[in-house]
Amino acid sequence: MSAPRFLCDEMLGKLARELRTLGYDATYAHGSDDEAILARAEREDRRLLTRDRGLADRAGSQATLLASRDPGEQLASVIERERLAPTAAGFLSRCLECNEPLVAAEDAEEVPADHADGPQWRCPVCDRVYWPGTHAHDMLERLGEHLPGEPDPSQALGPPDGTEGERKP
Ligand SMILES: [Zn+2]
Repeated sequence: MSAPRFLCDEMLGKLARELRTLGYDATYAHGSDDEAILARAEREDRRLLTRDRGLADRAGSQATLLASRDPGEQLASVIERERLAPTAAGFLSRCLECNEPLVAAEDAEEVPADHADGPQWRCPVCDRVYWPGTHAHDMLERLGEHLPGEPDPSQALGPPDGTEGERKP
């Protein structure tokens, strides 16, 4: 089954980043009105995640209404209700800013010397470089409970083909 894709409403920018960190395709409807959000969810075949009851009602079965204001609780709720099964391979396989799958990079100048020999990834859209450093470690500490086993951030950083998180069969 292909991985689900999400459209987060304007109130859920942090949730969109958390979903991306786990490797899910999650766009963020910043500054769009309800009509545009509904049209985009339909056009791009994305599940609408929203805290707006009126918007959720209009989207019907294509929306998941989230009650919590807390991004951590929102993420746990989405994982449970959408029956998501995040994988270690999906972790950090997307650009957190652009939602774009990362590609392998080599000898990126931005990478600190003590990580220069390790794996490095680049966003093909914004050119941000990612590597398994402290930041990745912190994100794994926060999100590791959603991942199987206890992935090592140096191993868990996404593969060059950007394998996405999966949905339980
Ligand atoms: Zn990017």
